[in-house]
Amino acid sequence: MMHDEGRRASPPRPYRPTGDRLIVPVDAVEATLTSLRRFGDQESGLFWYGRREGSLSIVTSVRTPRQRMTPFNYHVSAEAMTQMGASLDEDRSGLPDVLSHAEAEDRYEIVVSAVDKNTSRQDIQGLAPDLVVGASTVGLSAKSNLYRMAPGKACLGCHNAAEKDGDRLRKVEQEVRCMTEVELRKHLDGRAENVDAIVTYLQGGEKCGELGEAQFRNFATATEPDFSVSFVSMAAALLLAARLLSATVFDADAPDRASMATLNFRNLEAGDDRISQDQSCSHCRTADRLSAA
Ligand SMILES: [Zn+2]
Repeated sequence: MMHDEGRRASPPRPYRPTGDRLIVPVDAVEATLTSLRRFGDQESGLFWYGRREGSLSIVTSVRTPRQRMTPFNYHVSAEAMTQMGASLDEDRSGLPDVLSHAEAEDRYEIVVSAVDKNTSRQDIQGLAPDLVVGASTVGLSAKSNLYRMAPGKACLGCHNAAEKDGDRLRKVEQEVRCMTEVELRKHLDGRAENVDAIVTYLQGGEKCGELGEAQFRNFATATEPDFSVSFVSMAAALLLAARLLSATVFDADAPDRASMATLNFRNLEAGDDRISQDQSCSHCRTADRLSAA
């Protein structure tokens, strides 16, 4: 199979040696290798941070931002860069060393997920956690899912293809651009967080990359609110908590349950389901190929 899409461009000019020296401590090399190996045959990126004095620099921190990967390239969004930068400045004194190191490298063994967008699910699975416990409410059912990184097992990325935000953004923009201001405000009222900022943005009073654009993006790419009631959400939260405890604290004693537990309020059915792996999943299928090789 050819993997040409997403291939990076050649560097604009060849590398030329300088007299600068960069010291890379052994643990920074180890952290770098660990991060790169985690993503298998997908190309991934990470950042070295440190101190510089004149022509001498030392690496003091290795950070892996959230990113999208292909076999020949990776992409880090501006948002993920900002998050990574902000995390550098945070005071982590409240966390034990082992946790702050793991967090600095975006290593999460267990993730509890209750997100409502597939893009977010793909981002979480992209961190390659060992165990993900998720909850969702669809229709009138409460579900909790368990995903372990193991050969042949479905992951959170399976069957959750990322939404095509670009297409949706263009479609919504087409719809709202031809509205009058009154119509637009009525349309956004109760559905958008900051109506004024979006109106200003859509009326061209604001440059790219500012508040209105971000607000409009949030509004346009938000999932349509599904029919939901609080007791279904509460049931999903309870299933999730029970799942988390049985998979961690009581792991040795807990019965071997299926990956998905469902409580269905429409007909009051409760049941277990095994989830099959998505044959086109870029996360667990890649990991399986690596472990088979
Ligand atoms: Zn998968």
